[in-house]
Amino acid sequence: MTTGFAAAGLGHRYGIRWVLRALSGHAPPGTAWVLLGESGAGKSTAAAALAGRLRPTAGTATFDAAPVDRRRVGWVRQDPGAVLDPRWPVGRSLLEAARGHRRTALAALDRVRLDADTVWTRRPDTLSGGQRQRAGLAWALAAGPAGLVLDEPTSALDAPLRQAVAATLKDLKASGMPLVIATHDAALARAVGDTVTLLYGGWPVEAGPAARVFAAPHHPYTAAWLLAVPRPDRPPRPVWLRPALPAPQGCALVRRCPFARPRCRADPPPWRTVGPGHYVRCHFA
Ligand code: SF4
Repeated sequence: MTTGFAAAGLGHRYGIRWVLRALSGHAPPGTAWVLLGESGAGKSTAAAALAGRLRPTAGTATFDAAPVDRRRVGWVRQDPGAVLDPRWPVGRSLLEAARGHRRTALAALDRVRLDADTVWTRRPDTLSGGQRQRAGLAWALAAGPAGLVLDEPTSALDAPLRQAVAATLKDLKASGMPLVIATHDAALARAVGDTVTLLYGGWPVEAGPAARVFAAPHHPYTAAWLLAVPRPDRPPRPVWLRPALPAPQGCALVRRCPFARPRCRADPPPWRTVGPGHYVRCHFA
């Protein structure tokens, strides 16, 4: 039995526009599967399907080998204000999520390193961005989920708080919880991810063990994107991909990729194996 999160051929479209295609992957207990990409890549749609909040047009999303049960899977969205009732103090929202168990609610705050004395009686709009983000995470944990899906969990945070969230997510992994993380934060993906899938224009373009993908990216998009991300050990390098929208047919990257050839315009590239568990969707990678 496949435990934890799994996606098989996951796809979704709004009207005639496909926003996610053929995504497959797995987050067993105690691991994090990171969906990495820029805005519009399809990662939030994938996360919503894996959290059981969206019925995909194609393929399946499962948790512990069964259709995703929203009561077993926590969901932390980009805007934590959406989960914390703006009319209520944070403590009341947490108590409701914990079905009235104050100790569970306090433990959830403790897991995200928030001081209950500081936030319990305050409304979400009086908290800092970082406090709100972590209070949203505590709200999801207060319900006692068996797995957690997070959509841009570090988007509103400065560097020290991003590191604190990464530490919290590592703690959750260590407790055996499977995680799915949709993010554009490559540093978070490096710090927490066990497996990573790069998405572009709705297509997964590279997937594999996070350490392998970050050490030796094979897809032109992954390579360009990772080089452009600032790191402590080197300055960012210019992105050499041309600015353009994803192409509707053939390879999604064909309008941007300097290596594109005629075949790229006609045929969507299939997955190719480039290492153990490491796959790339490019005709010429
Ligand atoms: S399939 Fe062609 S256009 Fe797409 S990434 Fe590979 S070389 Fe570039």
